[in-house]
Amino acid sequence: MACTLSRAQIDRTIAFHGHWCPGLATGVRVAEWVLTHLGRAADEEIVAVVETDMCAVDAVQYLCGCTCGKGNLVHLDYGKNAFSFYRRCDGRAARLVSRPDLFPDIRGALGELNRKRQEEGLTGEEQQRFRDLRAELTERIMAAGFEELFAIGQPSLPMPATARILDSRICDACGEAVMETRTRQKQGKTFCIPCFEKLFSSTKTAKETKQNG
Ligand SMILES: [Zn+2]
Ligand SMILES: [Zn+2]
Repeated sequence: MACTLSRAQIDRTIAFHGHWCPGLATGVRVAEWVLTHLGRAADEEIVAVVETDMCAVDAVQYLCGCTCGKGNLVHLDYGKNAFSFYRRCDGRAARLVSRPDLFPDIRGALGELNRKRQEEGLTGEEQQRFRDLRAELTERIMAAGFEELFAIGQPSLPMPATARILDSRICDACGEAVMETRTRQKQGKTFCIPCFEKLFSSTKTAKETKQNG
């Protein structure tokens, strides 16, 4: 079944993201499923775990109310079009994964043009064809049914813990405050991650070089 969100909802999502594209359309459909089956996170009631940082995530943030700043959007850098959602009140959860074999004709043609675009560039005509194909793919994503677009199952990971406000410590090197759980301890001192890496990764390299020599 085609997307049931209102034109206004879709337009506001496009304004939030900056452009209309197949990735955002995928995110709109993911968000639509969540709004229909789990509801919207006015605050932190719904937690999203996304396995990509591409366009689709912006639709999840805007439409579902799962945002990085509230701590109810967790990004795993797996490079997969996979989106898990958990409802805190009753533990209801689902994971939606884009089907890899979706619209093979149009995606095959787009893949070929994309390869040519990167290797040797496209002619004016091919550029137009590329834009038309992307627009067609976007439309087809919006017109398809959930089951056609996604494999829908249960997440393999348990529900993430509630976001906590933690104490800060002061980094002994730069003097900036840093969240307690992100500090590194060494030689009885406390460091932030960038200072720790700057100070001790070079020491380690020097030691390794010495041992090797
Ligand atoms: Zn986009
Ligand atoms: Zn520091």
